[in-house]
Amino acid sequence: MTPLEARLRADIATNGPIPVPRYMELCLTDPAHGYYMRGDPIGAGGDFVTAPEVSQMFGEIIGAWLMTMFFAMGSHPGTRLVELGPGRGTLMADILRVFALREDATSALEVVMVEASPALREKQAASLASWPGRKTWIGRLEDLPPGPMLLVGNEFLDALPIRQFVKMETGLHERGIGLGSDDALAFLPLSPIVHPDEIVTPPLNHGDIFERGEAACAAVRNIARRLGNRPGYALFIDYGYDAPGAGDTLQAVHDHKTTDPLSEPGLNDLTSHVCFGALREAARMMGAEALGPMSQAAFLSQLGISLRADALIKDAPTGRRAGIEADLARLVSPDQMGALFKAMTIWSPGLPVPPPFQETSTMGAGT
Ligand code: SAH
Repeated sequence: MTPLEARLRADIATNGPIPVPRYMELCLTDPAHGYYMRGDPIGAGGDFVTAPEVSQMFGEIIGAWLMTMFFAMGSHPGTRLVELGPGRGTLMADILRVFALREDATSALEVVMVEASPALREKQAASLASWPGRKTWIGRLEDLPPGPMLLVGNEFLDALPIRQFVKMETGLHERGIGLGSDDALAFLPLSPIVHPDEIVTPPLNHGDIFERGEAACAAVRNIARRLGNRPGYALFIDYGYDAPGAGDTLQAVHDHKTTDPLSEPGLNDLTSHVCFGALREAARMMGAEALGPMSQAAFLSQLGISLRADALIKDAPTGRRAGIEADLARLVSPDQMGALFKAMTIWSPGLPVPPPFQETSTMGAGT
C-alpha cells in the first residue's frame, strides 16, 4: 500500500468518501506524496512521452506561432511568455531557440514557468540555463502579474482535477472514492445533487458518467479575464472532445501502460480528457475570443511542420533521416498523436485571428 493510500483510508474512515477532484489533486500534487512532486515522470525512461519530447519540431512550430503573435499584438516590451505545466522544460527551450533569432523579440520577453513541482522546476531551470533573458517560476497561475502575455500549455489542462457524476434512479450523484465491499478503494456515488439545475448535462441513461472539468474552466477563465484587459494570445494543446457527453475519461498511466486509477495512489499519472467546448464557452463568457479545437495534425501541418522536417532531414546524417520522418509521423499521423490531440486558442478582442484557426471560424471545429 502506498503512503498516500494509507492516508486516504484514514481520511475515508473519519470523513467518508472523497470526491474525485480531491482524490486527483492529492494523487498528483500533494506536497509529500503527489505523483508530479516526486520526480520526473516524462520521457522514454519515465511513464509517458509528450509531443515536445518526441521532437524539437513541435516546440519550434509553436515558437514560430508565438513569435508571430508577439509581433501581431504590437511587440510590447515586458511581454510575458508563460508556460503552464512545463514538464522538463523541453518545449520552452525549443520555443526560445526560435525567439533567439530575433533580438527585438528576445529583449522584450520575460519567461514565466507555472509549475507546482519543485523537482520539475529544477529540470526546467537546467533546460533553460543558456537563455540569457529574465525567467521566473511561480506555483500557480493566480500569482501571475497582469500584463501583455503569450501563453502555452501542452498536456496541462488534462492534469487538473475533474468532477464526475453518475446518473442513478435517485437522480444525479457526484462520484467519490470510498471503500468497497472487499475493502479496496472503490468509486461510490455520493448523496444526490440537491440542485440538479446547477449541473446541466446532456441526456443520460442510468449508470452513465458525466464529467465537468471545473478546474480547467477556472484556469481558462483566469486567462481570458487577463486577455480582456491586456493584449495577448494563449494556446492549449491536449487530448479531449468538443461537446459534453456521457463517458468516464479518468485514466491512470504507469510505465507507458494504462492502469486502474485507484491502484497505487500517488504512483500513477492521472488525467482526463478535456472538454474544449466548455473551455471555449468559459473564455467567451469572460469576453475573450476563442477558436478551436482543431487537430494537432492540422495545426502543425498548416504551420509548415513538414517544411521544418525537410530542413532537418537535409542537414541530418543519413542514419538520422528516417528517425526524423518517424517523429513527424508520430506528431501528425491520425493513428498516432495527430487526431487525438487538439489545439485551441484564446486571445484578446480586437487583435488579429491567429493562424491557422481562421478557417475554424467559418468551418466549425476543423479537422
Ligand atoms: N507540458 C509538459 C508536461 C506535461 S505533464 C510536456 O508537454 O512535456 C503536466 C505538467 O503540469 C507537469 O509539469 C506537472 O508538474 C504540471 N502540473 C500538474 N498539475 C499542476 C498544477 N495544479 N499546477 C501547476 N503545475 C501542474
